[in-house]
Amino acid sequence: MKSGEKILCPHCGEKSFLKEKKCFDDSFALKEVTFFCALCGGEIRNSSEKSPAPSKAAAAAERLSALLGGEKVARVTFAPEADDGHFCLHCRNFIKHPFMNRCGLTLKEVEATDSCERFEKSEE
Ligand SMILES: [Zn+2]
Repeated sequence: MKSGEKILCPHCGEKSFLKEKKCFDDSFALKEVTFFCALCGGEIRNSSEKSPAPSKAAAAAERLSALLGGEKVARVTFAPEADDGHFCLHCRNFIKHPFMNRCGLTLKEVEATDSCERFEKSEE
């Protein structure tokens, strides 16, 4: 990366170019060089470092599979916005009630934030 390099800015989405900003420490030694979008000023990181971090859902699936002795949990599918996990709130068997929420499968009291392995995603 260098100053003036053309980029497609991930912040503003415009075709822009890099602006360089040098940071010096107290003894005026060059500490680091950071790059910014010339249009919006958003910081641009080296594109080669852009390996996407594993999503929360993937990490959770990984942990679960580790718990089960490394076996892949193929049955468990995550919705795109899977941050909600398998909360009973999102389960089609969840029976909402002002005083006591129930699970339609076990008929036991559940919390909206409970989760269970018989989770079935609500169609709503
Ligand atoms: Zn920008």
